[in-house]
Amino acid sequence: MRCAQFRTALSARLDGEPSGLPDTRLDKHVARCTGCREWLARAERLSGQVRAAAADGPSAEWSARLLTGLSAQPSTGLSTGLEGRGPEGGQEGG
Ligand SMILES: [Zn+2]
Repeated sequence: MRCAQFRTALSARLDGEPSGLPDTRLDKHVARCTGCREWLARAERLSGQVRAAAADGPSAEWSARLLTGLSAQPSTGLSTGLEGRGPEGGQEGG
């Protein structure tokens, strides 16, 4: 097993996704591997920040940026779809 594979699994575990590896196996490697231990510490900090931001809900700045991004897109196919179409199943020449 390479460190990269452990880190992928550790990242998945942080996200609450299946890591594909037993926790004990991950923990054992992290305990012995300084590189992965430092990597995990950083990843946990980053993940904590993301989670804190998500708990707060989208900030005003984030919303504004999202709206800007949306309005910047070309408005194609945004018609209401209610252009004189009657209910389906109408009969002809009744
Ligand atoms: Zn490692």
